[in-house]
Amino acid sequence: MTALAPLLKQRIAQTGPIAISEYMQTCLLHPKHGYYTTQAVFGQQGDFVTAPEISQMFGELLGLCLAQTWQDQGRPDRFILLELGPGRGTLMADILHATRTLDGFHAGAQIHLLEASPQLRALQKEKLQPFQPVWAEQVADLPNLPIFCIANEFFDALPIRQFQFEATGWHERLIGLKDGAFHIGLTSAPTHLPALDHRVGEVQIGDIVELNTGGQAIAKQLGHHIEAQGGAALLIDYGDWETLGDTLQAVYQHDITEFLSAPGLADLSAHVDFAALVSNLACKHSRLTPQGVLLERLGITARAQALAKRLSGMALDQHIAAHKRLTHPAEMGNLFKAIALYPSTTHAPAGFTE
Ligand code: SAH
Repeated sequence: MTALAPLLKQRIAQTGPIAISEYMQTCLLHPKHGYYTTQAVFGQQGDFVTAPEISQMFGELLGLCLAQTWQDQGRPDRFILLELGPGRGTLMADILHATRTLDGFHAGAQIHLLEASPQLRALQKEKLQPFQPVWAEQVADLPNLPIFCIANEFFDALPIRQFQFEATGWHERLIGLKDGAFHIGLTSAPTHLPALDHRVGEVQIGDIVELNTGGQAIAKQLGHHIEAQGGAALLIDYGDWETLGDTLQAVYQHDITEFLSAPGLADLSAHVDFAALVSNLACKHSRLTPQGVLLERLGITARAQALAKRLSGMALDQHIAAHKRLTHPAEMGNLFKAIALYPSTTHAPAGFTE
């Protein structure tokens, strides 16, 4: 039994079934018992290892991609370097390391971070202290400057709602109680949501469609900012162009577990529906690109070979395995996808196609 299970059950008993998004929000970010607020979530000790924690090459190449875009847009002398959901701060640290000799880049960059967990903010502060990062509450609060943004495994951690298509229309899947245990049921009255209209022609009775309203709102704000001020955003996540069905996943100590079994102890995520994420943005977006393809285009093989020259024995084996893990289609190469947002007056960043 977890500390959160009785709290959630009490809430449901008092106010009725809750949306899946409310369950996710509580499990991930409850101030005392939330997953991101209590666990050593990343790295070899945590439940999952993210790309920047696998190898420095990930952050280096994406950092150089952002820096190239900054150069292509005339090297603005003041700009925002933003990361959404920076975790341990490793990705931003690698970006800053890779760009340290680029004239004018560090001098012009104001580092902004969007992070909900106070515990992770503290880790980020420690790691990035020399660069004096600032934590933003939302994208809309950022100063009016060009924005160069990176987000890895951020949107998949945001709460989603699920809707099931029935003859009567869309019915939301809610978490209630049955014999004292969590139980997923459907709202009896159909819900009309314009955000689901475009799916009606393609779904069949019983199909589930997910909605990441919070993620879409953040993408919209980013799109406005990039179109008005310049810059770009590189968004990398677990997902696809249009997702269908229940993609919720709970991971506890490196194993997949039942979604409702360990509230607050398991990492919860859902595949990102990139089509929904980038629909109706003010700026342009690139094609969706598999992570492995993007990293190859950005030169990961040459970088891996250069780094390999300094390594031997176990360190070399680990380095080769990390390269494969990031790029191979059977590992992270295809499961993770990347998309770039950029102003409609410019072209897609290096490694992306239009
Ligand atoms: N980008 C990092 C961490 C990914 S995990 C990496 O690649 O290793 C997701 C991150 O998003 C965590 O830092 C988590 O605390 C943060 N996060 C989750 N929900 C958030 C929210 N609603 N607002 C801001 N940050 C959030």
